[in-house]
Amino acid sequence: MNYISTRGYGIVNGEPTTAAGAIKQGLAPDGGLYMPEKFPILEDGEIEKLASMNYSERAATVLSKFLTDYTYCELLLDCSDAYSEARFPGGAAPVAAIGEKMRVLELWHGPTVAFKDMALQIMPKLFVRALKKTGEKRTALILVATSGDTGKAALEGYKDVDGVKIAVFYPVDGVSRVQKLQMATQEGKNVEVIAVKGNFDDAQNGVKKIFSNAVMQKTLDEKGYFFSSANSINWGRLVPQVVYYISAYCDLISNGDITNGEKIDICVPTGNFGNIFAAYIAKQMGLPVNKLVCASNKNNVLTDFLNTGIYDRNRIFHTTMSPSMDILISSNLERLLYLVAGYEATGEYMEQLKNTGKYQVSEEIIAKIKNDFVGYFCDEEGTAKTIKDLYCGYNYLADTHSSVGINCAVQYLAAAGKNAANRIVIASTASPYKFASSVYSALENSPAPEGTAAIEALSALTGVPVTAPLADLDKKPVRFTKVIESGKMAEAVTGIL
Ligand SMILES: *Cc1c(COP(=O)(O)O)cnc(C)c1O
Repeated sequence: MNYISTRGYGIVNGEPTTAAGAIKQGLAPDGGLYMPEKFPILEDGEIEKLASMNYSERAATVLSKFLTDYTYCELLLDCSDAYSEARFPGGAAPVAAIGEKMRVLELWHGPTVAFKDMALQIMPKLFVRALKKTGEKRTALILVATSGDTGKAALEGYKDVDGVKIAVFYPVDGVSRVQKLQMATQEGKNVEVIAVKGNFDDAQNGVKKIFSNAVMQKTLDEKGYFFSSANSINWGRLVPQVVYYISAYCDLISNGDITNGEKIDICVPTGNFGNIFAAYIAKQMGLPVNKLVCASNKNNVLTDFLNTGIYDRNRIFHTTMSPSMDILISSNLERLLYLVAGYEATGEYMEQLKNTGKYQVSEEIIAKIKNDFVGYFCDEEGTAKTIKDLYCGYNYLADTHSSVGINCAVQYLAAAGKNAANRIVIASTASPYKFASSVYSALENSPAPEGTAAIEALSALTGVPVTAPLADLDKKPVRFTKVIESGKMAEAVTGIL
């Protein structure tokens, strides 16, 4: 399987690369994102076969279709370790029921209790193999901009991995207390954590600029390093996420919720458009999916885009209780644009986005996108109300992001009526304890106790056991306290070399 860039590298100029090459590099040389040349398909009868497998086997089977330069044996070894009971107690991606129609795909049973673990437990293993497969001798410097969850999951995945250093930048006031503490207490010899003044987009733009800075490249080269990324712009992040949508479908068949071949809807609380794009890939592979519901919080730039075809980031940035979705530039949308509009138009949209913060696609393009996607959003009040309704009505404790998803799923079901599938799978992206303070406030209509005391308060209130990795967070030593201006990110990186 060859990989090419959303902006034409490997199609009109340059050579396509292998999966290992794409995973190693992160971004394509022309600044675009890597995509497989075509999507592999699920063969007749393959879903039944997958349904009889455990999660690691499902993952190795699906990954081997995309990563054709990795052997099945390599992938199964890596998946068995990444998705083991030790790392994901109780299973990697279990499905819970809420009433008749809604099924919640819980993706937060891993070490950092957010769905990013689903990709970032396996990706470092794929990355290390990629270095070997490509004969790489230099050290990889992985730069991560995070709205909270990616940073911690990447640090945990890459800590003490040979041949790799990792630096994580997060917006100083844009993450929850728990997220901040998780990162500040990170262990490992090869890790660096730096807070940036500004919001997530500032941090992400800073990282993108460093990647394309020629002087920086030269310095890196001289010192025996090269840049890579662990953000969802890296193909190695996206492809493991395709697996759990297929896995959920298998589980719904096994539960008797659906019959094989029956379509489902999928709703994903969205920020950078990575997770929902993985669901779209599963659909392209032949998974029976009706609609993909893109759920946003008050930062509803994607809802507007899906309704109008106009993407416009020139708007107020809201800091919400679902901070991992506080994003106005959804990088992975570029991959969808490439598929529906081609690389030339995509390059133009991205140029316009960079220069004016805005672009508009044609009626024809947005109509194509609407065949698969529909967008809804939920404000802060709606999020809090959903947390409370779910707990009171179904005894289900959901985090803020998952609640945005569930709220939007309810809106979708009401609007779609008979056009909705019989079951909707909603991606639940974080443990309620990761956002304990907001969840507690939503349930009690009053402020939560400060810091990690909110975790205990929420547990005392609901009786739901605290997700294990968070239980002793306040006892770990703080290692990282640096805060810098967003213009000083390049300097900080030079300091690490
Ligand atoms: C990252 C994240 C999201 C958004 O996922 P994208 O792939 O960026 O769209 C949603 N919820 C949580 C808890 C996250 O960590």
